[in-house]
Amino acid sequence: MRISRITVWQLDLPLSKPYWLSGGRLKFEGLDSTFVRIDTDEDISGWGEGCPWGHTYLPAHGPGIRAGFEILAPVLIGHDPRALDAINQLMDVTLPGHAYVKSALDVACWDVLGKASDMPLWRLFGAETAAPVAVNSSISTGTPDEMISLIKAARGKGYRTHSVKIGGTNMAADIARIEAIEAALVPDENVTFDINRAWTPGMALQVLNAVASTSWVEQPCETLDQCAQVAGRVRQPIMLDECLHGFPDHLEAWRRQVCAGVKVKPNRVGGLTRARQIRDFGISVGWSMHIEDVGGSAMADTAALHLAASTPEQNRLASWLCHEHLTVDPVPGQGGRNDGGFVRLADDPGHGVVPTEETLGNPIAVFE
Ligand code: MG
Repeated sequence: MRISRITVWQLDLPLSKPYWLSGGRLKFEGLDSTFVRIDTDEDISGWGEGCPWGHTYLPAHGPGIRAGFEILAPVLIGHDPRALDAINQLMDVTLPGHAYVKSALDVACWDVLGKASDMPLWRLFGAETAAPVAVNSSISTGTPDEMISLIKAARGKGYRTHSVKIGGTNMAADIARIEAIEAALVPDENVTFDINRAWTPGMALQVLNAVASTSWVEQPCETLDQCAQVAGRVRQPIMLDECLHGFPDHLEAWRRQVCAGVKVKPNRVGGLTRARQIRDFGISVGWSMHIEDVGGSAMADTAALHLAASTPEQNRLASWLCHEHLTVDPVPGQGGRNDGGFVRLADDPGHGVVPTEETLGNPIAVFE
């Protein structure tokens, strides 16, 4: 089987309401997503989506994906999309780094492999059955009352895990947010306080040692070194996210015992091939993992959910659904959707999501 054509679409994905991170430092109103279809000489096609949230979030941006495709796509034509390691080696030789550019192409190749073998991705990732995956909400920064009302709304949709965005220069405000939100939780409800790298190590030590909470704290500071200064000096377990760009960063985080868990996001690390390697390493060292994508429609969410649904329960935390924050849905009714706080994936081959060209509009590039 050979790749015969690669077709690319760009789609703006507006957020249903403005979204604030990092103490209000970062505001997002819409996402720039790239869809790709890989056609083969055997009449099987695979789909992928790449969406690095907004361009101020990570060293990644929507137009960068399309620019990278100009280099990568012509080189992939003629190669077997089922040979995922060879495809990734070829992409890494052709364009070192730029992991986020490669993710959608890698996912589309996995989709081809699933269809060619008539198996869902969760089975190719090692599961006998697809585990129901708990979903977690994402609570934008605001006053304690505003944030608690967002948590109550999410609770009404079945969410029992909440990723609560705090962090800023006002330490008293963060202490008040943590204490008010902990007091508002109901039994069996979990919260991760996601700082999105807003604190210095000193601020993290002061805030976290001033509160009784033992909930997860995610990416308290900018770098791995800074987070390492916090880990072990606070009572809360540390989760890492934005400072992990590839496997070597994960290895370093484990060697230095910086975290008890990580976010595994295909677009941040280069696709499902790399994310699966990190997931398997995380299992072997006993990490707790939220497995979800950086952003995108239900297609990006679903590709990541296949990895989550094949991950042992003791290593798996809830997964976030970006598509629930969007005003447009290019794959209506398809893929992993929240059903009372859980996603249950079907056993359609591949990732099971196929957009129609009507929902995507005209392609912006065709390579053949
Ligand atoms: Mg995060």
